[in-house]
Amino acid sequence: MIQANDIYLIHVAGPVLHATAGQQAIVRQRCPWCGTLLIDDNLPVESGFKFTFATQSQVAVSGGCAWSVPGEAPGPQSCLYLDPAVTR
Ligand SMILES: [Zn+2]
Repeated sequence: MIQANDIYLIHVAGPVLHATAGQQAIVRQRCPWCGTLLIDDNLPVESGFKFTFATQSQVAVSGGCAWSVPGEAPGPQSCLYLDPAVTR
């Protein structure tokens, strides 16, 4: 079981959602297991920059940082092992 003082958790990248609101391109991507926000960008439409994680890839999150983690099997740091009551 993952403890609250662990340094990071590994999540699964869910589908990417894009929307345009005025001059802003909004990009959101969450972990489908626990709902953690992996990508939360509001960018100028003209920037054309939309970084996202590959769907179903593993993503480590610590503080405000998220990065790709190689591999497909959930490790002991996976949010899969969180108590579901924590993520509701
Ligand atoms: Zn997660």
